[in-house]
Amino acid sequence: MAWKALILDEAQGTGHPDQRACYTAGPVQGNSMPDRAQRILKDVFGYDAFRGQQAGIIDCVAQGQNAMVLMPTGGGKSLCYQIPALLREGVGIVVSPLIALMEDQVATLGELGIAAVALNSTLDAAAQREVARRLRQGEIRLLYLAPERLLQERMLAFLQTLPIALFAIDEAHCVSQWGHDFRPEYMQLGQLATLFPQVPRIALTATADQRTRDEIASRLQLEGARWFRSSFDRPNIFYRIAPKEQPRQQLMAFLATQKGESGIVYCMSRKKVDALADYLNGQGLLALPYHAGLPAEVRMANQRRFLNEEGVIMVATIAFGMGIDKPNVRFVAHLDLPKSLEAYYQETGRAGRDGLPATAWMVYGLQDVLFLRQMMAASEGDERYKRVERHKLEAMLGLCEETRCRRQALLAYFGEQRDAPCGHCDICVDGVETWDATEAARMALSAIYRSGQRYGVGHLLDILLGRDNDRVRTQGHQRLSVFGVGRHLGESDWRSVFRQLVIRGLVDVDVEGHGGLRLTETCRPLLRGEISLELRRDRRPAGQGKKYAPSAASQLIGPDERQCWEALRQLRRRLAQEHAVPPYAIFPDATLLEMLRNRPDSLQAMSRIAGVGERKLERYGTIFLQLLQEGAGEKPSALVNSAISLADRPCEAVALAGSGLSVLQIASQLQCTEDAVYRWLAEAISDQQLTVEQVVSLPPGVLEQIQDLFLESDGALPSVAMVAGQLEPAVPVGVLACIRAALQLEFDS
Ligand code: ADP
Ligand code: ZN
Repeated sequence: MAWKALILDEAQGTGHPDQRACYTAGPVQGNSMPDRAQRILKDVFGYDAFRGQQAGIIDCVAQGQNAMVLMPTGGGKSLCYQIPALLREGVGIVVSPLIALMEDQVATLGELGIAAVALNSTLDAAAQREVARRLRQGEIRLLYLAPERLLQERMLAFLQTLPIALFAIDEAHCVSQWGHDFRPEYMQLGQLATLFPQVPRIALTATADQRTRDEIASRLQLEGARWFRSSFDRPNIFYRIAPKEQPRQQLMAFLATQKGESGIVYCMSRKKVDALADYLNGQGLLALPYHAGLPAEVRMANQRRFLNEEGVIMVATIAFGMGIDKPNVRFVAHLDLPKSLEAYYQETGRAGRDGLPATAWMVYGLQDVLFLRQMMAASEGDERYKRVERHKLEAMLGLCEETRCRRQALLAYFGEQRDAPCGHCDICVDGVETWDATEAARMALSAIYRSGQRYGVGHLLDILLGRDNDRVRTQGHQRLSVFGVGRHLGESDWRSVFRQLVIRGLVDVDVEGHGGLRLTETCRPLLRGEISLELRRDRRPAGQGKKYAPSAASQLIGPDERQCWEALRQLRRRLAQEHAVPPYAIFPDATLLEMLRNRPDSLQAMSRIAGVGERKLERYGTIFLQLLQEGAGEKPSALVNSAISLADRPCEAVALAGSGLSVLQIASQLQCTEDAVYRWLAEAISDQQLTVEQVVSLPPGVLEQIQDLFLESDGALPSVAMVAGQLEPAVPVGVLACIRAALQLEFDS
């Protein structure tokens, strides 16, 4: 067999802009399929061992059998079809739902020296002809296509003339009508079974629910395929869920632990997305909005920035996320409750694909519940459908009010039993306090009942807390026997009680009306005093013993390693720019981290780092080696510095400040004066890229004192020089410029 193999050579033509190499023909040593797969894993991808079920899946497909692969996000699905495509004769066809997703994969493969092309509407006719030519020549190992393109008659006819290694159907849950990722074109992919009976097909998904899995198999005609199920646990994700009190402040407190990291913040509505993105930018963070109401170009541009830059926070509706392949998303935050555990699992699953620590953070409140129930009531669909949806929401709420390990509960919902608590979620770490809420619950129920089962939580709170206001008076509710009986608890305690009563089904919400609460049958035994009720005690927001999972960077990188780490990332950023690929296509974080830890001192040692395959060793081994050798010393690396053009320094300075370096450190790293750094950072503060707190560190009280000096005179802010003259001891003018920039912003808004 003319098995196409592993010789790196020049490839011409279109496709990836950095197409300098690809795999073409030639035999390779190693006999059995597993041996050869193992060699490709090491030589091409730079990894020593297969993960989980990868080896079995690759063997199955390489032998020509069909496979159904159920693996969580980050499990390593891509290798499961990429390696068999390299092992078999012909081109591997990968069906993927999104252009951005294809382009990222093609870029990553290009960096590995594998000839991969995405055929999509962005290529002009000449480029498409060139791709066709290369396909006929057998020069392309992986071809990425959207389903509608693959299924065009001309395309199918053309493919019939080529040797085809396999069909991989990525994000296979897009075939399911019930999920929000449904793509009608996916339904037609079943045809491949009859059109290409000899070609193995592999469907891959990170969908955890059984119904969707069965639907995939039947629609894609993969009933006879071998199924590979992995555990859906994501051990590197820390789960944290808290009641919503002041969501923005809560979010800011969380984001403060994630400085300089990329993440996604999900909100329910477009309006909320826009408002929150503005707010975060105002707080000096780099946040971009994404929702279906934005023009396509804006969405694309924001998505690109999220993928290619570091430290971008994407504020989005659920329209964002599918196929986001970015491995180093460090957190996913939910400011609103998802409508099911399936959605929660999928959305949080976008964090930590690279296996490094990541956080899934969420706040939820009664308003979310009301809103979701209202949506469900108003939605189309028969009663049975609505019942299923309602049941799913209840399971989601159950996780929120959980008193056992969150991970155990989440996995149990998907049918995976886990014997021990995980030790890596808020409940395992912080514990849960419960309290005997029997008496309080009875008061709450009675307030609902006596006021006529029509009022929302706000009014009921007024009654229980004995607030003698107009609304209460007009209704004569100050005369109710329950008026003021709840003064022994605070407002947030009562909110917590009402929320839990609703979630436990003791109280129902009138969804058609105005969120009025009414009693259900279930609450009778409690009212009659036959049962007691334990409720979760909500924790107070930040400050009172609330521990946040530290951000990945601060957890993994020691203070003495920081500088070298930043230098590695900077070098990667520069190379990514030169090659027009995302930074992680050069090396993922995990690889850089291993370099930082192991400090390889020769190319050979470098080749042992996971993620350094032959091609990358050849391209980048020397430069990273050099950097590590310099970076290992005390001095900042001239290599990185010389690599940064003068014009890029302001941007670099801002990025470094954002990741927590001091002005002195930045100045020495960029080999410039501290004054210059302050000037750039002051500009960044004006542009709301940084906050003044990120830049200046002063003894307690001094910042306020300086701010007062600036604000003393009415009218315009005094100049830096004027304030400088009044300060004893002196404060560098650069510091003053930064403080002034921040004040000016407030002035202007
Ligand atoms: P998925 O598509 O399942 O979300 P990916 O295929 O994107 O996951 O892989 C996630 C990350 O894990 C990637 O950075 C990939 O290079 C890495 N990876 C995959 N398989 C291995 C392996 N056997 N050893 C080390 N890293 C791996
Ligand atoms: Zn746990």
